[in-house]
Amino acid sequence: MAVTIYYEEDCNPEIIKDKKIAVIGYGSQGHAHALNLKDSGCDVRVGLREGSKSIEAAEEAGLKVVDMATAAEEADLIMILVPDELQPEIYETYIAPHLKAGDTLAFAHGFNIHYGYITPPEDVNVIMCAPKGPGHIVRRQYTEGSGVPDLICVQQDATGDAWDIAMSYAWGVGGARSGIIKATFKEETEEDLFGEQAVLCGGLVELVKAGFETLVEAGYPPELAYFECYHEMKMIVDLMYESGIHFMNYSISNTAEYGEYYAGPKVINEQSREAMREILARIQDGSFAEEFVADCKNGHKWLVEQREAINDHEIEKTGEKIRGMFSWIHE
Ligand code: NAD
Ligand code: MG
Ligand code: MG
Repeated sequence: MAVTIYYEEDCNPEIIKDKKIAVIGYGSQGHAHALNLKDSGCDVRVGLREGSKSIEAAEEAGLKVVDMATAAEEADLIMILVPDELQPEIYETYIAPHLKAGDTLAFAHGFNIHYGYITPPEDVNVIMCAPKGPGHIVRRQYTEGSGVPDLICVQQDATGDAWDIAMSYAWGVGGARSGIIKATFKEETEEDLFGEQAVLCGGLVELVKAGFETLVEAGYPPELAYFECYHEMKMIVDLMYESGIHFMNYSISNTAEYGEYYAGPKVINEQSREAMREILARIQDGSFAEEFVADCKNGHKWLVEQREAINDHEIEKTGEKIRGMFSWIHE
């Protein structure tokens, strides 16, 4: 295997317990990192802007909250967990002025370092600890005694022990319980963007929507189309996740399995693969990053238009109605 997986016994918890940690931001990842580190016995402060809605939530959860500049000044490890597009400005204004030689700057995604939107001084460590799952699952699994696997990366090793620091951080957020994978900032950034664009979010939502629209266009009831193309997705994915494609195939009927081999390559065909290669090329040459940053500077105009379009789509209205009828979904 090309990658080595590390576990708790490979990490030295004392390294992270000895550090003063600042978690900047208290969103999806921020709340999970801050709370998991605190519960692992680490010295954490959350850095938030004045008037932030998250101050109360973080304090109620028992966390120490200070403003972002104070957090950066007090800490010797600063984990930046604000949205990627806000990180360059927040870094310049609140973090960079307070960096000391030997400090560690940490990220949960490589976007700003890899594409050069943030350039830290040479005398600080630059590491990444990227949980491979949404923040709310990172927190939930930790409280349940497990953890979401982490990718860890070192871009700059100023102190000579940046890897050990990254491994120890991954221990603190609970990732070492299920496995730590070493990677580079380039690999994490490009693979993460490709996965979310071509497969997980972009590919999946379009696939579900196209299936739903095909059935509805042909006159089938939207509720049934929702069940077939959307609702059942989770059960199929759960089987694949837990026991492999072969087990999912074993669990479905022979009719379904035959249809899978017959129809799958017609839907995801050479044209789809060519589109995936183009998507990857635009990630690798930085043109996706430029386009995204330009839209952010334009007030997220394109992003918001797309968000509104999917929110208004019939599949969302149908889903809302159906999920409301099935109380067990919310249990
Ligand atoms: P988020 O949008 O959930 O949270 C952002 C937080 O940043 C807010 O809750 C707030 O506390 C703070 N914030 C927002 N606007 C601010 C402003 N103008 N000034 C100061 N603070 C502000 O962000 P997220 O999804 O947790 O992403 C954080 C990082 O983690 C990103 O680098 C992202 O790529 C990475 N990441 C996220 C996930 C995920 O599950 N969402 C998974 C892996 C990696
Ligand atoms: Mg991502
Ligand atoms: Mg069926």
